[in-house]
Amino acid sequence: MTKLVTDVVCPFCGTLCDDLEVVLSDDGKKIVDVNNACAIGAMKFLHSQAEDRLTRPRMRQEDGSWKEASYDEAIEYTAQMLAKAKKPLMYGWSSTNCEAQGVGSEVGELVGAQMDNTATVCHGSTLIAVQDVGVPGCTLGEVKNRADVVVFWGCNPAHAHPRHMSRYSIFPRGFFTAKGHRGRTVVVVDPRPTDTASIANLHLQVEQGRDYELLSALRVAIRGNPLPDVVAGIPKETIIEVAEKMKNARFGVIFFGMGVTHSLSKNHNIDIAIQVTRDLNEYTKFAIMPMRGHYNVTGSGQVWGWQFGYPFCVDLSRGIARYNPGESSSNDLLVRGEVDAVFVLGSDPGAHFPFNSVKKMNDLPCVVVDPHITPSTVVADLHVPVAFVGVEVGGCAYRMDNVPIETHKVVDAPDGMLTDEEFLEGVLKRVKELKGV
Ligand code: SF4
Repeated sequence: MTKLVTDVVCPFCGTLCDDLEVVLSDDGKKIVDVNNACAIGAMKFLHSQAEDRLTRPRMRQEDGSWKEASYDEAIEYTAQMLAKAKKPLMYGWSSTNCEAQGVGSEVGELVGAQMDNTATVCHGSTLIAVQDVGVPGCTLGEVKNRADVVVFWGCNPAHAHPRHMSRYSIFPRGFFTAKGHRGRTVVVVDPRPTDTASIANLHLQVEQGRDYELLSALRVAIRGNPLPDVVAGIPKETIIEVAEKMKNARFGVIFFGMGVTHSLSKNHNIDIAIQVTRDLNEYTKFAIMPMRGHYNVTGSGQVWGWQFGYPFCVDLSRGIARYNPGESSSNDLLVRGEVDAVFVLGSDPGAHFPFNSVKKMNDLPCVVVDPHITPSTVVADLHVPVAFVGVEVGGCAYRMDNVPIETHKVVDAPDGMLTDEEFLEGVLKRVKELKGV
């Protein structure tokens, strides 16, 4: 008879849904089905069961072919590469648990690494803005129970965070939101007619790259000052209508994504979006929240915040933690040829970095730790497959609203496979020996 594991946490996106049910085979060794997850979340669990999954490290040979290696050999190669490098880049850290991030930070400190996470290509501008002007935040629980005006700016949760709207932001009924979606006003600001926009009460089709102007206009409208007839492609009547809806909310929230963090003005877009939120708090209660992508990118910022004082782009090469995005960010370092080895864990820069950066990864000694075969593993010299966090090993992860959630192990990893944390513990031990620490 199959077994049902309940209250499972989904380790895919920053929504970290914690109500999944996983159906296991009679012997508890195989995942048969996943209930409550969206399609991408369910695939993460089912993909771990793939028959052709790699279960041992593999080293690239001179002729480009791969040769299986033991975990001990992989640990030795990685430790030697990091210990010998003058300035290694240790990148990723967003699809793993905080425990592994902690051990990885210790390795980075010992080898004087450039530590960077995936925020560098997504919400890094948000982190800079939050340091500039602070952030009026809230939890997703407050959104579910209180929010009657919800704004999605430059994000499309219908595709990127598929259960966000049903669990927290639009459809659920909460303590003070008993009518569910009928009691909420949903505003989408996006140049594209997205699936999220199709269910909104109002869609503001802002002109591409002109978010800053529209946010400025909202500040003007909130204060009741005059506006030009059209701003960023939006008629002033619509801007005033949205400003009034926001001011009259009982509790409002702005969710924003890479449509704003990576369009023109970048972190200044977020500065002003936060200032809009601040202005609104003179009339009602309003909060703002980034739609974080990888399930524990928020956690890597938290762990480095405790350990180094900075959430990404941390330069440890001088024996102290320095932080200067633009100088100490992965792509800048790679393109300028300032790093001499690359270690990747818990992300896929091969799929997301510009071509010139990936070419540098290909030319440098490169180790990639990932359960999957990815574009990053294609350019690696050593590929180390590991157990899936949240499926085959538990550990702490931070949801997009900075709430820490304990993920659970559901099944055993294939025999003899290491977890991220175990692999990094092995590398740390060996680096200490090599450095005589
Ligand atoms: S919304 Fe995100 S966390 Fe929730 S089930 Fe889908 S992928 Fe997983």
